[in-house]
Amino acid sequence: MVETTNINVTKVAKSKLKDLDFSNLPFGKHFTDHMLVATYANGGWQSVEIRPYEALSLQPSIVAIHYGQAIFEGIKAYRYENGEAQIFRPYDNYKRFNISAERMCMPTVPQEIFIEGMKQLIELDKEWIPTEADHSLYIRPFMFATDEIIGVKPSENYLFIIILSPTGPYYAAPMKILVEETYTRAAPGGVGFAKNAGNYAASLLATQLAKQKGYDQILWTDAFEHKWLQEVGTMNVFFIIGNTAVTPSLEEGTILAGVTRDTTITVLKEMGLTVEERKISIDELVDAYDAGTLKEVFGTGTAATISLIEKLKYQEKVLTFDLDKLTVAPELKNRLDDIRTGKSPDTHGWMISV
Ligand SMILES: *Cc1c(COP(=O)(O)O)cnc(C)c1O
Repeated sequence: MVETTNINVTKVAKSKLKDLDFSNLPFGKHFTDHMLVATYANGGWQSVEIRPYEALSLQPSIVAIHYGQAIFEGIKAYRYENGEAQIFRPYDNYKRFNISAERMCMPTVPQEIFIEGMKQLIELDKEWIPTEADHSLYIRPFMFATDEIIGVKPSENYLFIIILSPTGPYYAAPMKILVEETYTRAAPGGVGFAKNAGNYAASLLATQLAKQKGYDQILWTDAFEHKWLQEVGTMNVFFIIGNTAVTPSLEEGTILAGVTRDTTITVLKEMGLTVEERKISIDELVDAYDAGTLKEVFGTGTAATISLIEKLKYQEKVLTFDLDKLTVAPELKNRLDDIRTGKSPDTHGWMISV
């Protein structure tokens, strides 16, 4: 089985880097020269290699395509002025990846492959990390089932892959949000806490319908009463009520435990806010709005960091937020950016050098 040092490296004959236009890097569109590929078979991880980024050749019968045994992660790395590459909280994503793996009956991935492999891959493609403000390297680790048989059971073969995508500023326009009362993202006992591919497929229709009505995203509610708030689109959600930040708690298993969510909780406390992780209903939110105490609503996630919300619609009620009066979200975003780009000291040990 695999030892740390056993990563086989095959480099590209010719780098594609000179073709990359660093001034035009839409999210998730361009990939670096290399990828990491690990193979699971016979009850263990058999091989790990870094090789040129290229198409995979797979049988049409593989389990992931038919039954959705597939999970992923999203992480960002930055290049500092001294040329060093730094990854933001990869150990937290590593832990979550294996939680997702267990829920989907997949093997866990050892740290030597996930973390050390990631570091080695990034080191090799370091020149691809954009250094301009608000740019980063988006890291996408993923795993999927490769048994070549159309039968419903946990696969015995898997591929774990890491690909890297240089990414420009993710301009997240302030969002208009519809409170969802028909469709459900996650129910207790389900897979809402796992970062599995199917959760995204399941969310597309409701989001598309909201878009047809002029909204950008959905505020998901619970499966039974459609009144307990869960997440906004594919982001965690925060409500600023007076001097308190409220975010839905994790214990029911219907919330994806975001690394940005956890980071936000820590930084909001440092900013002097009280943070409550608990159940919060749409009724409480509307009451706080009517009382004038609901100040801000925003989403958190790796891709956009903080996404502002300017309008929220629930049945006939419309809540609007004056973006010029926001204080918490803009300061939070600045603090997060400063930590990740090395402008302010990393007092929590969140930045991991490659
Ligand atoms: C990935 C994800 C998030 C955000 O997690 P981060 O670790 O902050 O990127 C939130 N909700 C869902 C459903 C997600 O898949």
